[in-house]
Amino acid sequence: MSWQGIEGHDRIAEMFSRAFARGRLEGSFLFTGPEGVGKRSFAFQLAKVILCQSPRRFTSCNQCESCRLFDLHYVPVKGEIIRSEKQALAQQRRAAKKEKSPDGEPDPLHFEIPNHPDFYYISKPADRTQIPLELLIGPKEDRGQSGLCYNLSRYPYLGKRKVAVIDDADYFNEEGANALLKTLEEPPRGAVMILIGTSAAKQLPTIRSRCQSVRFTKLATRDLAAVLVNSGIAAEYDEGLRLAKLSDGSCKTAMEFKDDSFQNFRIDLYQELAKPRPDFVQFSKRFNDFVDEKGKDAQTRRRRLALGLTRAARFYRNLACLLSGDSSVLTGNYDSGPQLQQAAKNRPDLQQAAKNAERTLEALEQIERMGNIPYIIEAWINSLR
Ligand SMILES: [Zn+2]
Repeated sequence: MSWQGIEGHDRIAEMFSRAFARGRLEGSFLFTGPEGVGKRSFAFQLAKVILCQSPRRFTSCNQCESCRLFDLHYVPVKGEIIRSEKQALAQQRRAAKKEKSPDGEPDPLHFEIPNHPDFYYISKPADRTQIPLELLIGPKEDRGQSGLCYNLSRYPYLGKRKVAVIDDADYFNEEGANALLKTLEEPPRGAVMILIGTSAAKQLPTIRSRCQSVRFTKLATRDLAAVLVNSGIAAEYDEGLRLAKLSDGSCKTAMEFKDDSFQNFRIDLYQELAKPRPDFVQFSKRFNDFVDEKGKDAQTRRRRLALGLTRAARFYRNLACLLSGDSSVLTGNYDSGPQLQQAAKNRPDLQQAAKNAERTLEALEQIERMGNIPYIIEAWINSLR
């Protein structure tokens, strides 16, 4: 049974349900966990129930004025900062007409944001490295008179409650975090704040200590398959299951697996790694091209590098399994079976395969610490020689 259509997080829903029943669902929460497991969807559904005017057993009624407004959505536009209600309305109109923003492209993920007067959502704009201060406390000329903290302090339009979701909490700077501290520590009466990050370790200590931590884990394969079918990413359950097995519990990874350029790159990658003598110069160029394909944004490029290296690490790990006599990786792994067999024939060296898997994992770890992507690729490829 899924709560509010959310798969795989029943335990967390149960925890909130108990607090809700006792009338104690308030304060600030920090959601952490891998990308693409449904933290944002969970936060939105939680907000819907909190704002619902006649919830039943921790489920939204889907009929009241609040639920009706909550189900109206708009699509966020990349790079656009919403500073006023007027801008938000203009953006919603453009989104409804599927027009491009004057400032940027529509967000590739196309997730929809509830359009409810007592619900606030902010995230890091794609062209910024951190969450801009003006989103929290208004622009310079209007400090304290707009922005999230001000909006939360005003009396709710509909009921008695307000909910704010702050996405990309990994990207707070000191200034932003300080601006938020008072609101986090003591949200206005009836308000709930939900911060979404990837890990507690990435949050500034001042933020971490003021929020109740809620840890999300990666989705079980069956739950992910259900999510993929429900959201239309997979046409039917079998396709969902096949994608889910590849995607390590992450809906985001599953979506990336459906991307043509990644499909092509994976095949090239496996073929190259399976060769008796890979052409490392060519291969380095191919890898760099793949990383740069979706533009110059640093986050996107790091994500592409991580995608490629994760597949390479998986390939070497499976190769080591195969060479040690475990052929189940051929049936369980829809991704690189033929190339694995080829590699096992060409380079039947178990120790080398295990070493290469380890080196690839080391390269993956470097992505967060080092900015220089071509260098990481070069050093990784050299370590495989
Ligand atoms: Zn309702």
